[in-house]
Amino acid sequence: MTDKTIPDIIYTKVDEAPELASASFLPIIQSFAAAAGVSVGTRDISLAGRIIAAFPDFLREDQRINDDLAELGELVKTPEANVIKLPNISASGPQLLAAIRELQGQGYGLPNYPDSPATDAEKDIRARYDAIKGSAVNPVLREGNSDRRAAGAVKRFAQANPHSMGAWTADSKTEVSSMPGADFFANEKSATLGAATTAKIVLVGADGTETVLKAGVSYPAGTVVDATFLSAKALGAFLDSEIARTKDKGTLFSLHMKATMMKVSDPIIFGHAVRAWLKPVFEKFGPELAALGVNPNSGMGDLLARVKDNAAIMAAIAEVTAARPPMYMVDSDKGITNLHVPSDVIIDASMPALIRAGGRGWGPDGKEHDTNCVIPDNCYAPVYDETIKFFKANGALNPATAGTVQNLGLMAQKAEEYGSHPTTFEIPHDGTVRMVLEDGTVLHEHKVEAGDIWRSASVRRAPIEDWVTLAIDRQKATGYRSIFWLDANRAHDAELIKLVTPILEAKGVADKFEIMAPREATRASLETITKGENTIAITGNVLRDYLTDLFPILELATSAKMLSIVKLMNGGGMFETGAGGSAPKHVQQLMEQNHLRWDSLGEFCALGESFKFLADARGNTKARLLGEAVEAATQGYLDNDNSPQRKPGQPDNRDSHYWFARYWAEALAAQTEDAELSAHFTPVATALAEREAQIIAELRADRGKAVDLGGYYHGDPVKTAAIMRPSATLNAIIG
Ligand code: NAP
Ligand code: MG
Repeated sequence: MTDKTIPDIIYTKVDEAPELASASFLPIIQSFAAAAGVSVGTRDISLAGRIIAAFPDFLREDQRINDDLAELGELVKTPEANVIKLPNISASGPQLLAAIRELQGQGYGLPNYPDSPATDAEKDIRARYDAIKGSAVNPVLREGNSDRRAAGAVKRFAQANPHSMGAWTADSKTEVSSMPGADFFANEKSATLGAATTAKIVLVGADGTETVLKAGVSYPAGTVVDATFLSAKALGAFLDSEIARTKDKGTLFSLHMKATMMKVSDPIIFGHAVRAWLKPVFEKFGPELAALGVNPNSGMGDLLARVKDNAAIMAAIAEVTAARPPMYMVDSDKGITNLHVPSDVIIDASMPALIRAGGRGWGPDGKEHDTNCVIPDNCYAPVYDETIKFFKANGALNPATAGTVQNLGLMAQKAEEYGSHPTTFEIPHDGTVRMVLEDGTVLHEHKVEAGDIWRSASVRRAPIEDWVTLAIDRQKATGYRSIFWLDANRAHDAELIKLVTPILEAKGVADKFEIMAPREATRASLETITKGENTIAITGNVLRDYLTDLFPILELATSAKMLSIVKLMNGGGMFETGAGGSAPKHVQQLMEQNHLRWDSLGEFCALGESFKFLADARGNTKARLLGEAVEAATQGYLDNDNSPQRKPGQPDNRDSHYWFARYWAEALAAQTEDAELSAHFTPVATALAEREAQIIAELRADRGKAVDLGGYYHGDPVKTAAIMRPSATLNAIIG
């Protein structure tokens, strides 16, 4: 059970690489903060933690834990909130199953995930597990809009030390391919509600029978409510033609989705791609595949594991594969393809990486090739399409001279929530989907066919107003070119433009802002930063995610270095660390070679802002000094190039924390405003400097060897601490 008192600062317990880094860094933070009377506690939002918290009735008393996510969900609605939020796993189906298996193996009496729940008890278990999947954490915590940018010191460092960029040439065959129509973009309808209402979503069959897909959705007045669908038939035809076209062009076939967060829609689209790729096999062996429990949405890896003992099916797969174009690989050495697991290729990370590499992806031959990037839906694909066209025409971006694209993203109160899981459906039979309001009005209606994916998303009025206000403030503070990425020809965006324009006019700042569709805004932003100037992208929720990976990866090599502030609407603060995820590849490297290449720069930036916020909110001078010293330490860390390197034998995450702690202590010792703090940190700084050689030697003693964390999703804290805090000398000084 977690301690019930709320600490001054909450540092979230998460998964994978950032959690390993926390095992090393958090004790340093807690020790330094305690010296200034600031308490830093944790709350568990990890995948394993959320599973354990959801099943107290299945567990022993001593295994149960508090539902920290629910607690945090309430806290972020209060002015006291000061949360440092690290990236956590948005679990895909296979990840959830793996975590359940691991916990069961550790003696947790958790129920199995029911594939086809029949009884009420099974349905309840399934519902509890499903609530943990996908983007289950961020929507709960994000009670504010997001302000993401590279801190000045970080951007200057990237310009002075430009990272490598693949070359772009005009004859590159790399391209983005999207459906010619019948997608979410083409079918979207949107309306702004005049009054608060509830609504139900129904499917009316050809014979007039009505199935309720969802009842009791409620919206406050002023909510913008959208509905749209993607045609399964059109998707199938599109995928067939892209597979053939890729073969003709001699490029790699790749599919870029967000199957983790968009846990309902995107795994289905991914499954259609698996089905299209192996179409002759599905046609010939339909019943056999069904009997083996094959679900294409789980990916080719799961499929192969299920059919491996059936020689006829394996032979048919080999035959089809030989006739297909080469596929974009996740790991060509291990034979892991793009279609292996739905969560391996995630669009916001995969597309920028490919673009940064000069439009080249890895093929099955272990070499780089031009690639056909299939992104079926047209809502945001034009961003990547236009970026590729721009670099083909102008050559790669030069990080030494490029300006920056900052982002102000609309996300508060589940705004434009990606997956919109409770209101996304795979349509069971032909008919008409209607969204019917409490008074009987049909707000939206679509004729659909079996298999179509229908979804509704919404955004409330107050978050939109807050977002526009933030944009006005940031534009005023920076004077940068400021663009609302809204498409007047898309139903949802047209509704937003109707709300945004009057606010800008009323404040007399309409002439300071431009409104452009994503394709045009992409071009304008790339033109601006190519000239060395800066721009602010004011976007909806999905582009907030995509752009804060795309531009940082081009400008800084990684989105992990971003400063990410969520000004909570009720006055609290949440500081997200970086804009990237939990870097599973880093964990693999640590387990195999005891080297953690995770860079905690995002945590340093967030920590500085969190102390600053605490200082402002409570008039706490010591917190301000801690924060200023964090900034000085971050500057020192960048100036001295203390970031972790990629290979075993080189400095890693643990070395980087030693340097950060040293600079932090030096800055606190050197400040003259608070003698007590200075007296406390002077011996710390001296000891860290004097024992440098010994500490570094102890930190690196066991590098290069495999290590045992005692679990992947639910590691053993004692084993993890021993691995992540191997220097007794450093630990004693931090003490
Ligand atoms: P990712 O974790 O951001 O990893 C992509 C790559 O980015 C890494 O392999 C690494 O590159 C680099 N990277 C990210 N953070 C880094 C850091 N601090 N230091 C150094 N390099 C860093 O993206 P992903 O693989 O798409 O997602 C992994 C998991 O994170 C998923 O479960 C996803 O759901 C979750 N996620 C969570 C959030 C969030 O909670 N805010 C956001 C995004 C994704 P190299 O391998 O080249 O070193
Ligand atoms: Mg992202």
